Amino acid sequence: MKRLAVLTSGGDSPGMNAAIRAVTRAAIYRNLDVIGVRRGYEGLLDGDVIPLTKSSVGGIIHRGGTILRTARSERFKRPEGVNEGLSRLRSLDVDGLVVIGGDGSFRGAQELHLRGFPVVGIPGTIDNDLWGTDATIGFDTAVNTALDAVVKLRDTASSHDRLFVVEVMGRHSGWIALSVGVASGAEHVVIPEVSFELGRLCDKLHYAKKRGKTHSLIVLAEGVMPAQELASLLSDTAGYDARITVLGHIQRGGGPSAADAILASRLGAFAVESLCDGEKGIMVGCVNGAMCTVPLEKTWAERKPLPPELLELVETLSI
Ligand code: ADP
Repeated sequence: MKRLAVLTSGGDSPGMNAAIRAVTRAAIYRNLDVIGVRRGYEGLLDGDVIPLTKSSVGGIIHRGGTILRTARSERFKRPEGVNEGLSRLRSLDVDGLVVIGGDGSFRGAQELHLRGFPVVGIPGTIDNDLWGTDATIGFDTAVNTALDAVVKLRDTASSHDRLFVVEVMGRHSGWIALSVGVASGAEHVVIPEVSFELGRLCDKLHYAKKRGKTHSLIVLAEGVMPAQELASLLSDTAGYDARITVLGHIQRGGGPSAADAILASRLGAFAVESLCDGEKGIMVGCVNGAMCTVPLEKTWAERKPLPPELLELVETLSI
């Protein structure tokens, strides 16, 4: 192996830069050449590449976003697009590719793998919805960003005796909502993994009010329904006047937390080590504190379950 390429693809997440830095420095440490592909698979098809050096990745470990930028590429979703990407990698003399992204990006990486190209994935998404790793890069930071906002909203909720619905990101998964719910002491968490029962939620709100609770916070995962819809349901069925806050893309921004910067550094270095050891078609992950690998296709085919204990905690601690 002489030359590696690295790209970031799909939605950005805090810690992607730390992963780019780790891949670059670990590769240079092993006397490999490194190039960065800008704008994900779209940039690969355009041949939009830059050399990455020890110094060009200096000072980025704590920066949010991705210095390589990211994109979604419709062209790469077609077989001809993947073949074109493969030819581009070969013409650039690249022997291995590191893809930092989520499940969509890994589906693209799998297509390259099926055509015989050595690819390793690094889980970079705030959603934490990939099987094979306890956490994805950016999840911890996103939870902390959302927590900060929810804690502030609680001040207003309690001062004004209000009911607040806070919508957090996570796509089809409730990892962010559940974690924020537990960390903020929210009264209720509404997530896609647990079937939504309006009657049950109204009962809980009603009993809480009866025993003197003057305000409540509901953390809602975007994958269930928009906050406005839940507020309308609460108003139409039980007359609750809920205020809504949609946190949106601020959850994807900002520099990484210490946990994410460390995770990204470990996964970046381990991705290079794995490629050099001849591993391909895999994602690197961290399970129970140890680095591990998992076939790319398993990362989206299997659903990572939410910890049942956390689900229970929301119920027991919000009485
Ligand atoms: P994420 O990686 O954050 O889940 P997306 O789902 O948007 O983001 O996927 C990022 C990119 O990965 C897509 O724009 C596309 O270029 C590529 N991709 C997704 N699915 C496939 C596929 N089945 N074949 C080839 N490329 C794909």
